[in-house]
Amino acid sequence: FDQREGHIWYNGEYVDWKNAKVHVLTHGLHYGSCVFEGVRAYGGEIFKLEEHTDRLFKSAEALGFELPYTQDALMRVQIDILAKEGLTDAYLRPVAWRGSEMMGISAQSNTINVAVAAWEWPSYFSPEARLQGLRLATAEWRRPDPRTIPCKAKASGLYMICTLSKHKAEQAGYNDAMMLDFEGYVAEATGANIFFAKNGVLHTPMPDCFLNGLTRQTVVDLARRRGIEVIERKIRPEELGDFEECFLTGTAVEVTPVSQIDNYAFTPGDVTKTLMDDYTSEVLPKAAAAE
Ligand code: PMP
Repeated sequence: FDQREGHIWYNGEYVDWKNAKVHVLTHGLHYGSCVFEGVRAYGGEIFKLEEHTDRLFKSAEALGFELPYTQDALMRVQIDILAKEGLTDAYLRPVAWRGSEMMGISAQSNTINVAVAAWEWPSYFSPEARLQGLRLATAEWRRPDPRTIPCKAKASGLYMICTLSKHKAEQAGYNDAMMLDFEGYVAEATGANIFFAKNGVLHTPMPDCFLNGLTRQTVVDLARRRGIEVIERKIRPEELGDFEECFLTGTAVEVTPVSQIDNYAFTPGDVTKTLMDDYTSEVLPKAAAAE
């Protein structure tokens, strides 16, 4: 992925994609002092740019560092990079990390580096293909207790357990893992939030020890606008058999049905299909949507 053509915005200037490198003694690499965002543009317009940028700044604050740019400046960079790279349907990856000036756990005065990469990312799967649903397996690793880590930060360190879990699920022939939280309640997938439906009502875990995803928030709003009741609560894994529908939400997965979790089966029904369609309309650029 590092050998592409194009440019990456790196500490205030555009560098060739292939030259956007870090030193091996980077604090962010050794000690996990790194935060990032996953952002998407549809038809040239960035969806929830302000909310994503705000979350990046909050994530950095949770890790005790300050970005050397204003939120406005970083929003401008994300808009500019799309134009510069000629992208309209794209994924953007802002990332910020402590640099390599000092080696050790303490790195109070290390430079804070910031980069933004963007690449083409159209919707590859038709709604019909997505309706086949993802297959998930419950992970052994759990979302940690909020007292053990800043669990609301989109911090790279929190993804170690996600990669371990996703790899294990993939090796067993599944698409992704469903993670429980430290108390054993259903939490989320490895890079997306999870929803269930029963009798036309949505149930989704309370985001008290993992990201309250921006897509999750959008979908909760869309559901309520449709008059669909949404219950945020603790969900026990033994309840999975009671639900008829299940889907994931996230910037990357959008609204994607789940067909199986371990031995439980789900079929996308009216609730899932309605929210898939509503989400697709919601992310369209406002000018195009008005046409
Ligand atoms: N949980 C995790 C662990 C994630 O990585 C993501 C993707 N950022 C989400 C949930 C969904 O967040 P969002 O809808 O803001 O993309």
